[in-house]
Amino acid sequence: MRFPLHITTDMVRLQVKNALQGNKRFPFVMMLEPLWTCNLACLGCSVERHTGDLKDRLPVDVCLKALDDCGAGAVSLCGGEPTVYPELKELIDGIIARRKHIYLCTNALLLDKRVFGKIEPHKRLTINVHLDGMRETHDYVVDRGGVFDKAIAMMREAKRLGYHVITNTTVYKETEIAEVEELCEFLTRDVDVDGMLISPGYQYESVEESIFLTGQDIERKFKRVLELSDRYKFTSTPMFLEFAAGSRDYACSPWSTVTFTPMGWKGPCYLIQKTNTFDWDEFWNGTDWSYWESRSDPLCTNCKMHSGFEASAVIELRRNPRDMARMVKWNLAG
Ligand code: SF4
Repeated sequence: MRFPLHITTDMVRLQVKNALQGNKRFPFVMMLEPLWTCNLACLGCSVERHTGDLKDRLPVDVCLKALDDCGAGAVSLCGGEPTVYPELKELIDGIIARRKHIYLCTNALLLDKRVFGKIEPHKRLTINVHLDGMRETHDYVVDRGGVFDKAIAMMREAKRLGYHVITNTTVYKETEIAEVEELCEFLTRDVDVDGMLISPGYQYESVEESIFLTGQDIERKFKRVLELSDRYKFTSTPMFLEFAAGSRDYACSPWSTVTFTPMGWKGPCYLIQKTNTFDWDEFWNGTDWSYWESRSDPLCTNCKMHSGFEASAVIELRRNPRDMARMVKWNLAG
């Protein structure tokens, strides 16, 4: 299966529970950034996300309370670089104890020192390695030589030790899809990864102007990515890829992916920071979700981010039995 059975059943259970409670909006995923300290300074990363002081990190109990408050079914543990977080084991243990799934989003450089032998493989833990291309491109994007080779060595070792390993690749304006295809082939054949996530890229730095690839750029590139999805184990749903390729449309679901950082809950979404608060009720009840769902804000113009639209695609399945059948087949075929 493309997604392990327990993840699928947990996420279905989360939706049924919220439907029974009459909740139209609810978080699927919590993006947890416990620190803004990193051992790299990648070109596509916002400055505040890698220049933070380690002493300003969030305490474990604050992270876990935030998870309890939001009730998301999965945690995407990012940052900063989460393997730099000194209390990583304690945090992961606390998330697993709550029966939540964790995606440990990492550049992989410290897996041997901070994860292997310290945090055991677990069915609720997925290591998600950032790889933006083959050796030359990736080392350029992360602004340091040797990172690609180290990441690949760490992934092979993680697989050998029994971890569930996926990759996350961002498609930028300059990205050649032929190279994405080469990377997918390499990761499938030589590393035996358990899945690959291909995301449309955006630039944090120019938030006031166009922070995303243009809609046309995304559609052109993702038409090719959609073709590749028949051959490779992509973790994006076929409906999301069709949306990215421009052949279907959705309202945004910014509430489906809530973001908690050293500044608290970030509203309205992973990409846009209009508000910050440590008070969950203030964030959840104070955000004008209808407005952001409408995508009428100028900052939303070219956005096709997973964090906004994967949940929209999943929710629409309830109204479309044919898509539901496709989705089941797609998951079983992985
Ligand atoms: S369309 Fe994109 S930028 Fe706008 S609210 Fe949704 S996720 Fe955020």
